[in-house]
Amino acid sequence: MILNFSKKVMDYDVVVIGSGPGGYVGAIRCAQLGLKTALIEKYDTLGGTCLNVGCIPSKALLDSSEHFHNAKHNFDKHGIGVSSLKVDMKQMIARKNEVVEQTCGGVKFLMDKNKIDVHHGLGSFVDKNTIRITPAKGKPTTITTKNTIIATGSKPNYFPGMEPDKKRIITSTEALNLTAVPKKMIVIGGGVIGLELGSVYARLGTEIEVVEFADSIIPTMDRELGKELTKVLKKEGFKFNLQHKVQKVENKGKSVVVTALNKKDEEVSFEADYCLVAVGRKPYTEGLGLENAGVKVSERGQIETDNHLRTNVEGIYAIGDVVKGAMLAHKAEEEGVYVAEMLAGQKPHIDYNLIPGVVYTWPEVSAVGKTEEELKAAGVNYKKGSFPMRALGRARASMDIMGFVKVLADAETDEVLGVHMIAPRAADLIMEAVTAMEYRASAEDMARICHPHPTFTEATKEAALAATDDRAIHS
Ligand code: FAD
Ligand code: NAD
Repeated sequence: MILNFSKKVMDYDVVVIGSGPGGYVGAIRCAQLGLKTALIEKYDTLGGTCLNVGCIPSKALLDSSEHFHNAKHNFDKHGIGVSSLKVDMKQMIARKNEVVEQTCGGVKFLMDKNKIDVHHGLGSFVDKNTIRITPAKGKPTTITTKNTIIATGSKPNYFPGMEPDKKRIITSTEALNLTAVPKKMIVIGGGVIGLELGSVYARLGTEIEVVEFADSIIPTMDRELGKELTKVLKKEGFKFNLQHKVQKVENKGKSVVVTALNKKDEEVSFEADYCLVAVGRKPYTEGLGLENAGVKVSERGQIETDNHLRTNVEGIYAIGDVVKGAMLAHKAEEEGVYVAEMLAGQKPHIDYNLIPGVVYTWPEVSAVGKTEEELKAAGVNYKKGSFPMRALGRARASMDIMGFVKVLADAETDEVLGVHMIAPRAADLIMEAVTAMEYRASAEDMARICHPHPTFTEATKEAALAATDDRAIHS
């Protein structure tokens, strides 16, 4: 154990501030390891961004809208007739809220099961071992702790001129609660949130106009993914304005107007019912009283940590969206477990190269490891094998023929270095690649594994065969 033992008797071994996937998972692991643990959450419900206004509600709406889209555009091809199809937005949101409520309730159950004390209120440092809890109503209390894990997450980011008013200029949080299907929505940012929530509304009939600063959508992922996803989403009715610099966004009462400079530096404007600002998220440290404990924050607002998620103050750790790295729920969870196990004297490990990324469009986009651009920049001699979904019997059976799987492997050793795909259920399919890479498999290893037929997974085998020595069977 490397617990921060002090002569003073403390209320807790560990206090976790923030109940998102980083915080609540970290708290459970601490409790499993026998540490007396408390969790502080400022809101009434547990689960953080992910469960309340992030991963879970967005996926619930993505599923609902996908059903509608299929019923409208694809059922007839299956020989299924549907008359008087309509969207009941109130019911769609109510179902989403029910999913959120059940999932957040599940976290409460897990806290009770693991005997973790939950305190509702804003957590702030009085000093490095004392935390004040200020509830929405009632008097503040204080608790003492040997160790603290800061897991306070992130909030939507925006730039000058595009400040959300939460009425017509909205963030993901408001976009998850619209009461009617808008006619038109401008989405600033062609990243994950913009394309996922844009998909929800495009499928329900909203005209989606994306205004993106970079020269591609999902610009940080492998470039071929951005190209293929552009084709997919254009079919769904998305319009893309790349290399556009947003100047200002104005709420005109019944509409919103976005003014931007295009790549020729000409001023262009777009008008719609709503403007969704989706240009990234920023770490959230407001009200934490970091200065009282002496915890350092970087220029980007992230809590500074070393490779073991330790802040500059002994006994204080930080994880998830509030520290550097991908802002992903599963990354936050891994970090929560890491700190808990380290506190218990274990030697945990996280391979940040193997944290998969997913975009929940349809088909889904997923990736793990290095992109082609990263391999080129690092001067790695690599080979590549691709397999198109349209060549797969399973994909034709479900009319999911767009997309591909691409396997990148070291040209000399054949070790798999990256896998990138656009495919139905790619979010689940990517796990084969993550597992293979965790065990440092070669492309040939992946290609030699028997894959069930007919499944979407066969595309991964075929792409691995193509990478091995250009011997895909079905293309
Ligand atoms: P958070 O989940 O942000 O939780 C932090 C918690 O701390 C909050 O509950 C907050 O209220 C609380 N808190 C903050 N300050 C204090 C304080 N001083 N005292 C007490 N409590 C405090 N990621 C994925 O991996 N997959 C997805 O599909 C996905 N979809 C997303 C969709 C949307 C629309 C959004 C916005 C995000 C999505 N994300 C997704 C990102 C994911 O939600 C975050 O990466 C994840 O929630 C980060 O977890 P965390 O524990 O670090 O922080
Ligand atoms: P993002 O970083 O994915 O995308 C932001 C996009 O906005 C980028 O394409 C960027 O080039 C663009 N942009 C930045 N400034 C701009 C400007 N001034 N004008 C126009 N475009 C601009 O961020 P996000 O979509 O807001 O998502 C935030 C975080 O939440 C991400 O880090 C993501 O990992 C996480 N998230 C994950 C999932 C998932 O895992 N499926 C889903 C939603 C959100």
